[in-house]
Amino acid sequence: MRKIQMVDLKSQYEGIKEIVNQSIQEILENTSFINGPQVHTFQKGLEEYLGVKHVIPCANGTDALQIAMMGLGLKPGDEVITADFTFAATVEVIALLQLTPVLVDVDPSNFNISVEAIRNAITPKTKAIVPVHLFGQVAPMEEIMKLAEEHNLYVIEDNAQGIGASYTYSNGTKKKAGSIGHIAATSFFPSKNLGCYGDGGAIFTNDDDLAHVIRGIVNHGMYERYHHDVVGVNSRLDSIQAAVLNAKLPKLDSYNTARRNAANAYSNALANHPNIITPIVEGDEDSHVFHQYTLRIVNADRNGLMAHLQSKDIPCAIYYPIPLHRQKAYLDSRYNEADFTVTNQLVEEVLSLPMHSELDEDQLVFITDAILEFLK
Ligand SMILES: *Cc1c(COP(=O)(O)O)cnc(C)c1O
Repeated sequence: MRKIQMVDLKSQYEGIKEIVNQSIQEILENTSFINGPQVHTFQKGLEEYLGVKHVIPCANGTDALQIAMMGLGLKPGDEVITADFTFAATVEVIALLQLTPVLVDVDPSNFNISVEAIRNAITPKTKAIVPVHLFGQVAPMEEIMKLAEEHNLYVIEDNAQGIGASYTYSNGTKKKAGSIGHIAATSFFPSKNLGCYGDGGAIFTNDDDLAHVIRGIVNHGMYERYHHDVVGVNSRLDSIQAAVLNAKLPKLDSYNTARRNAANAYSNALANHPNIITPIVEGDEDSHVFHQYTLRIVNADRNGLMAHLQSKDIPCAIYYPIPLHRQKAYLDSRYNEADFTVTNQLVEEVLSLPMHSELDEDQLVFITDAILEFLK
């Protein structure tokens, strides 16, 4: 059996090695390291894949979120509502821009931001909502967009974990995650579902004016060479990363199918166990791309289980061990512990298993056997 890894980028590389090596070699030969044709090709390819009018590549997913908020013209003191249970990048950029983060609780069934909690957190200062498609499952976008419309708020999708997922509206219409809100941000960090071999990110929008504003922001606030109209940043996707992404984009759906198959194998083996809650998929199967496969371990010794798995060389991880509202950087006297009962419980229960496009049956059986052996 191959060594089990949380993410197996080496095995995935074997399947695209020739094309990746050849396109990187070309860039080395013609030295088009920045803004090479690969970047434009990737932008167009991703626009077509997502069905979105504008993709603006940038340096990483955190920049993408920050630039999205800059592009919307959010001002210091504006309140931005996001989930308490997510990676810190989401709240970090809100704070960096001197906007006011308003963390809210999540839904215990799918780990995504609670629409009810958003509704309760809206004040006259609220300007935007940032749903995170956590672990690869699309947040309840129809309800969120409706609420945003009622209160005249922007919706910024954090799609760092959800690329390739689809959302089905109650009338049956489908849209790709990242094409639903006013703007979206994603990351191409190597371990993401569509990852490059370094850092990368992108912003998506269907709004022509917003796309124009953002193309200037990522390039030092320039709309005309050496004319700096706004304070911008330097945030680029380099040509080598774009070349890797061009090799992987045509395979994204099959990579996500492989993840879904692995998730189904895990869930079939672990279903109906009194100490395990397996992840549920809301709506259609393609609403979840399993960036992570995350169990809840209830009324059992999670740390003991982790130690047992590690003793068998099975990696596992807790995403995320501390709710953001309890992180030193984001403490706020307005928060009340009673408003975070779900996140507070999830951090004690969650356990993420190895998840990537290259897990095989032997590995999956070995992992689920080890879990059942410990929990009996
Ligand atoms: C990975 C991630 C980011 C940040 O992406 P980077 O490319 O690492 O900056 C933001 N939000 C979420 C939910 C993520 O998982």
